Formats: sequence, C-alpha cells, structure tokens
Amino acid sequence: MLTGKIAVVTGASRGIGRAIALKLASKGAAVIVNYNGSEEKALEVKHEIEVQGGRAAISQCDVSDFEKCEAFITSVIKEYGQIDILVNNAGITRDGLLMKMSEEDFDKVVDTNLKGAFNTIRFASRQMLKQRKGRIINMASVVGVTGNAGQANYAASKAGIIGLTKAAARELASRGVTVNAIAPGFIETDMTNALPEKVKEATISQIPLGKFGKAEHVAAAAAFLASEEAEYITGQVLCVDGGMAM
Ligand code: NAP
Repeated sequence: MLTGKIAVVTGASRGIGRAIALKLASKGAAVIVNYNGSEEKALEVKHEIEVQGGRAAISQCDVSDFEKCEAFITSVIKEYGQIDILVNNAGITRDGLLMKMSEEDFDKVVDTNLKGAFNTIRFASRQMLKQRKGRIINMASVVGVTGNAGQANYAASKAGIIGLTKAAARELASRGVTVNAIAPGFIETDMTNALPEKVKEATISQIPLGKFGKAEHVAAAAAFLASEEAEYITGQVLCVDGGMAM
C-alpha cells in the first residue's frame, strides 16, 4: 500500500498518466495530477480519485519550462512537506522523416520528453535525498531502445530518458532513492489513436502478444516500482510491450 505517500504524476490529465494517477491513488497515495493544457480532464481525474475515497490535487505546469518546474515542485514540497513518488510521464510526438524534420519539432519533443524529466528530478531529488527515501519513475518507450523510422526526435528523447534514469539511479542510490524507467510498447491512448489504420495493423503484427496494451498495464508496472516491494530495484528499464522489444 502507498498510504501516506505523496505522488506527483506529470501529464496525468489523459492516457497513461491518468491511469497511473488513478492506480497510485487506489493504493492510498495522495496524487498531484499535473497537466499542461487539459484542465477539464485533469479535474475529471481528481474527481474520479475523490469519488473513490482518495486524495488528489491538480497542478498546471509545462514540464519543459525549468523555472516553472522549480515553482511547481517547490509548491508541492511547501504544501505537503514531502515527495515520495515522482512519475515523469508527460510526453508528446511530432513525427516526421529526419530529412524533413524542423528544428522546432526536434526541440519541442526533446524539451518536453527529456528535459521535462530532468527539470522535475532536478528539484524533487533534493527533497528525496533529505527524506532518505523516494521513487522516481520515468516514462521511456520501446522506441528509445529499438529506434523507429519517422521518430528521430521521439526516439532520441526516449533513449535519453534511459540514460538520465541510469545516471540519476547511480547518483541517488546511496540515500535510498530508486530511479527506474518503464518502456511501453504500443498502448491504446490518444497518442496511438492518431496513427493511421495501416500503421496500427503493421505494428500489431510485430507484437508477440498480438494486441496493443492498455494504460492500466503500464500503471500496474508503475505502482509496483513505486512500492516498498521494489526497494532493491534501481536503474532498470521495464518493458511493458507485449514482447515487442525482446
Ligand atoms: P497522451 O494520451 O497524448 O497524453 C499525454 C499527456 O502528457 C497529457 O496528459 C498531456 O497533458 C501531457 N503533456 C504533454 N505535454 C506536456 C507538457 N509540456 N507539460 C506537462 N504535461 C504535458 O500520451 P500517452 O500515450 O498517455 O503517453 C504518456 C507517456 O507514455 C508519454 O511520455 C509517451 O511518450 C509514453 N509512451 C506512450 C506510448 C503509447 O503507445 N501510448 C508508448 C510508449 C511510451 P495536457 O493534455 O494537459 O497537455
């Protein structure tokens, strides 16, 4: 159980982040539901948690903004006095072939997916070190392991997340703070709903378990890595991908 724990989940207004927020709350954590643009949806997540008897708050912050992340994480620490679980889930895609990719599309994806995780870890880790306890979970992707045509920006950001995870794991381990990554395969969310049918069919043929995953599958892995049972696991990349990247 996660009773008494304070959890921050970035990009929790929709998709995988939403499922993680609901799962951590169902285990007893008070959850800060971060969002960027979807305030209504973040409020719905908060409401859903509260209806089930849990504790939640919403907080707007563009994770790609270093100073806003400082204000966001500082305000959580001020209000709750602790941060036990940090899930860096916020992420975007701006797909396109490398030769045609704009500098803006490259920067936007790396700034959100990779720098966003650095930004929150930068400010939350000091508190976790003080507590001598903490769980950081970063959302990578199988694409960060295998690469993918048309996703140079996204694959680079997710491979970067894996490096960031391992470096942070080594830096923070001596004070009982674990840092792990989850690498989802193809999960049914707004992000993958946007893919053309042909691409979806071709992708399913590459998945040994023969179907897309659900956000709840990723949330279950996150809840495990956030738990006391996972105290001896750090610097790892857990693939939740139906066997895709093995
Ligand atoms: P999604 O349905 O598109 O949701 C993305 C979430 O990220 C939203 O809550 C969005 O908030 C938030 N977000 C985007 N930019 C943000 C920013 N600058 N600051 C704060 N929040 C921001 O995506 P998803 O499929 O659930 O993906 C979640 C994570 O899993 C991402 O890191 C993604 O790369 C990773 N992933 C997904 C899959 C998949 O198949 N779906 C596979 C591998 C990895 P607002 O709506 O409020 O802007």
